[in-house]
Amino acid sequence: MKIGIPKETQPGETRVALIPSLLPTLLREKHEVFLEAGAGVSAGFADDQYAKAGAQIVRSAPLLYKNADIVWKVQPPHKPGPRGKHEAELLRERCFYIGYLAPLAHLDILRKMAKRKVTAFAMEYVPRITRAQSMDALSSMATIAGYKAVLLATEHLGKMFPLLMTAAGTIPPASVLVLGAGVAGLQAIATAKRLGAKVEAFDPRPAVKEQVKSLGVAFVDMEVTEDAETAGGYAREFSAAFLKKEQEVIAARLPKMDVVISTAQVFGKRAPVLITKEMVRLCRPGAVIVDLAAEQGGNCALTRAGEIVQYHGVRIIGALNLPASLPADASLMYANNVSNLFATLFPKGSTTPNFDDEVTTGTCILRAGEIVNESVKNALSGEKKR
Ligand code: NAD
Repeated sequence: MKIGIPKETQPGETRVALIPSLLPTLLREKHEVFLEAGAGVSAGFADDQYAKAGAQIVRSAPLLYKNADIVWKVQPPHKPGPRGKHEAELLRERCFYIGYLAPLAHLDILRKMAKRKVTAFAMEYVPRITRAQSMDALSSMATIAGYKAVLLATEHLGKMFPLLMTAAGTIPPASVLVLGAGVAGLQAIATAKRLGAKVEAFDPRPAVKEQVKSLGVAFVDMEVTEDAETAGGYAREFSAAFLKKEQEVIAARLPKMDVVISTAQVFGKRAPVLITKEMVRLCRPGAVIVDLAAEQGGNCALTRAGEIVQYHGVRIIGALNLPASLPADASLMYANNVSNLFATLFPKGSTTPNFDDEVTTGTCILRAGEIVNESVKNALSGEKKR
């Protein structure tokens, strides 16, 4: 197959969907790789490195899209500025697409792709089964976000993280509360701990307590009477009564905290508000809240996506796309996820997807232009009814 790697055009996106070290395997399987000039530069991979590894460098995006049997991307197709053509319209008719799609938020893009009769696989929909872990970009990118969230907190906090006993005085360790201990939260806990902070964490899923404790940090105990987990391992949406009780438990911890890292999410839903405006007033002046759920509405009521809000001496950081701030490692992990998914979709050099595999059916949103994912179908028919 002719694999096309375009340069990402979404503002702030620095990652690339393929890194040079993955080329030999693809070429060995008789694929050809075309890279838009400069596609890897912001992630630290020069055109020369791709060319040496066997990629063909293409000067323009239209040329790249025109020839590609399959496009590997990071961000969903996008219109790069008023004069650029929408990437969804550049896709070759009946081609394949692998990348993020956020289909429920981008029904308009799906319609454009459907017109081109594209078969599209969404990275967000990789099933969370053991066999698919190496394809799971939500997890790999969450690992990076959890790590970077702590570094952001260290930059904005006016004190150090570790305990220091010096001739100039004793500095107590920073106190960090991590809310939501999934992939991002566990990485935030481990990073804050490595930097010497005193860390506490909470997550309502029953399996998490042991995972948190195994990192050597305290688990905030709270009775969870509701069924917390879906069959897929995600958290369920909790009742208003539970969230109120949770807010009370968090409120009691806030006056002691220097940093709160919040990562609580419920797949496909708005993030739960765990810190209200009134609760922010309980924080120490100078405290920092890094809200990794900013894109889904935020775990703090004051969060504004992509901005830093100051309230009552507290900084609330609405962090967005943190993986793009570490593009070399993020691209390495993402490209591995994509190439592992590609190998599963198109086993042993085949040019048609293996629809007998649950990874293929789980990730496929559009099949030759037809929407095949049930939740996306429902969203589209709901939109038509409105
Ligand atoms: P996520 O990003 O959807 O959510 C982050 C965390 O928020 C979750 O741990 C969730 O329990 C928590 N949360 C939800 N509501 C909350 C609330 N009210 N208060 C506090 N926390 C709340 O989840 P994720 O990190 O992507 O994954 C969650 C879990 O899925 C993982 O920890 C793992 O158990 C499972 N998983 C399995 C696989 C696999 O088997 N292949 C892959 C990835 C993840």
